[in-house]
Order: sequence, then C-alpha cells, then structure tokens
Amino acid sequence: MKDNTILIKNALILNPNNDFKDKRQSILIEDNIISQISDEIDEGSAEKVIDASGKILLPGFVNTHTHLSMALFRGLADDLSLDSWLNDHIWPMEANLNGDYCYIGALLGAVELIKSGTTTFSDMYFYMEDVARAVDESGIRAVLSYGMIDFGDAEKRENEFKENLSLFENCNGMANGRIKVFFGPHSPYTASEELLIRVRELADKYNMGIHIHVSETQKEINDSLEEKGLRPFEYLDKIGFLGPDVVAAHCVWLSDSEIEIIKKNNVKVSHNPCSNMKLASGISPVSKLIENDICVSIGTDGASSNNNLDLIEELKTASLLQKVSTLDPKVLTSDEALAMGTIKGAEALGLENEIGSIEVGKKADIILIDTDSANMVPDSSNLSSNIIYSANGSNVDTTICDGKILMENKKLLVLDEQEIYSKAKKAIIELKELREAI
Ligand SMILES: [Zn+2]
Repeated sequence: MKDNTILIKNALILNPNNDFKDKRQSILIEDNIISQISDEIDEGSAEKVIDASGKILLPGFVNTHTHLSMALFRGLADDLSLDSWLNDHIWPMEANLNGDYCYIGALLGAVELIKSGTTTFSDMYFYMEDVARAVDESGIRAVLSYGMIDFGDAEKRENEFKENLSLFENCNGMANGRIKVFFGPHSPYTASEELLIRVRELADKYNMGIHIHVSETQKEINDSLEEKGLRPFEYLDKIGFLGPDVVAAHCVWLSDSEIEIIKKNNVKVSHNPCSNMKLASGISPVSKLIENDICVSIGTDGASSNNNLDLIEELKTASLLQKVSTLDPKVLTSDEALAMGTIKGAEALGLENEIGSIEVGKKADIILIDTDSANMVPDSSNLSSNIIYSANGSNVDTTICDGKILMENKKLLVLDEQEIYSKAKKAIIELKELREAI
C-alpha cells in the first residue's frame, strides 16, 4: 500500500469528451495525480478507498469569473441597475474593506465553492494576498488577479502595477502550485490605454494571463463609441491588447465584427448569465460564439450580483437562456454546458493539460454527485442531462482537489464552516456600521 493514495471504486465517469462513459471504473490517485483508470485496480493498493456506487464522478467545475470576497455582500443590494448598484451600494461598502474582511469573505466563498463542486475559480478583486491565504487553507485551486483601475491617473497606475506584480512575486505557484497569478485590468472603461498597453507588454514578458471585464452593458458600448469612436473589442484590438491569454468576462454586447475579432485573437470568453440577467445587462450571444469555435467558459460573477456560486445552476441558466433567446431548444445542449463548466474553463485559464477532465496524468480534481436524491431519480439515459438540468450544487457529495479530499459525504473536512459563517456575519455588520459612520 502506497502513502497518499486514494482509490475511487465503482465510479461512473462523466467526462466532457465522453470517455469511459457507461462503464463503472476504478480511479487511482497517487499524491495529486490521477495515475490509473481501470476496472482492475487492487483495493489493497490504496491508503483510502471511496465507494462511488450510486454516484456520478466528474471533473471538478471551473468558475472563470468571480470576486470571491464579495460573498460578504450577498443580498446587500438587489433589483437595481448596474450603475446604481455599484455607485450607491457596492463601492461605498468596498471603501471600508481591508485584508481581514476580504480573507473572511474569501473563506465564506470557498466553503460555498467546495460544497457545490467547484475546484478551480478565477478571481479579480483587492487584498488578493489575503484571498491567496484563504485559497491555501481551503485546499482549492485558483487564478488570482488584482483589479487594476487608474481612470487615467498616472500615480494610481503605478500603484496598480505594484500591487499586481507583488501579488505575482509573492503568490504565483503558491499552495503546491494551486495558485496562478494573472493581470486584472478591471475593464476598458476604468483602465487607461497606457495601463492596458503596459499590461500586454508585461503579460508577454512574464507569461501571465489577463482577466478583464468587457462589453457588459449597452451603456459601456455607447460610451466607448462616443469617447473612442470604436466598440470595446475594436478598441482593444486596435491597441494590440488582445491574445489567447485574455479571459474576457461578460461579452454581452457584441457586433459580428467583434465576434470575428474575438475569434481571430483566440480570446477566451467567460459567460456570466445569472449576473447579466439580474442586472438586466443583456444576453450574450453564446450559441453564436460556440458556432464560431470560440472558447466559452462559465462564471458566476460575485455573489453580490448572482446571488450564489452554484455552477450547476449557472450552467442550467446558460443553456435555458440560449434556448429562449434564439427560440431554438437545440442550442447549448447539456453536453456543451458540461464542457463549458469543465474543460473549456480549464482551457480559458491555460490549465487544459492539468485539469478539466478525468484522464491519467491530470491533476486529481474530482467530484462525486449523489444520485440518491428525489431530484435525481430516475436516472436519465443521458448523464449530462442529469447533471445540468436535474442536479444542483447541494447534490455534490464529495470534492477532491489536487488529490486532497476537501469534502466527503457532504461533510467539509478542511474548514470550520460554522466559525466562518459567524465571522462573516460579524464582518458585514461592522462594514454596514462603518458605512453609516461616514
Ligand atoms: Zn465581475
């Protein structure tokens, strides 16, 4: 028996590429790697054995756009336009944030991610070294970026580079390689042309990815046309900012020529349907993007505009929204939605050789979904339909990330849930008091 080995037996594997379908297999995990998939692995070879009978095994979900610490602002302000939501509610609260608040918010978010089957998330926010601390302790995998905003101010710009680069120096490769650091220029309307051009130069120099919000609202398009005479993607293309290492969140308002620009530059899209619906931002033309072979992944955005981080719910919403907006029930199938939530997310983050599917040699980021639940009976003949349309995050039974079991039989093994809940409740009370004191 080898140390640090886990055998998952009787596993019905649901892979985005449909490998191993309809046949129960055993999976051997050695350290953090999937080392064997076979029906002939000896049980005695592993330190820990998990029986996956009655469960569906799939790769951990990948959430490519969120602001994890904003879990603290869940339900703070609803039913508002993006403008008023940001200006009157979110930004005044964010003014009093500090590293401790962001740490507790990130832990709260991490509990929710693990419990609903997400093993990797891509984050853009502030106090990111405190978020990295929460990632390290929770055992999850993350791509972290600092939200750079300069509004054309040169002094502020210097500070934003200092922040994002020190995050890179201190945290890239941290937590047994589970943390990667990207640049996070907030958007083309909050970051100046100088900032964006320098991000591109440094991203090339340090081989860092880029995480940015683009074309979220119609107002953003109108302002861009008025100020620059170009739509957002036309402008980003003109200044040489785009490339295959760019993950653009939202991409709601796209002209046909912008879809061509995204395709030409192999930009990765993060689709955030719940946030776009809740803020009435619009509907991203996702089925058209997929038709054009563009890599579309999925994100929840922050819990303050969603209001949860349940990726299964997000994928179902993505699928249904495309069907109703195109009046075609055949678009964005459950198979395509499953790929969006797994391998396409991995590809968007440049991690497709490490995660996003169940394959020998890949990192052991694995979840088990319990089918012994009213909403999962009877089994559909199509496993992806069972997961995308019938399941939700609370059906997730076991979550493994980087070969470590973070949750088993719906019990969290890595963090003290109740302590985190009470600290998070206290934090939001304090933040509301600080805001009223201004
Ligand atoms: Zn966002």
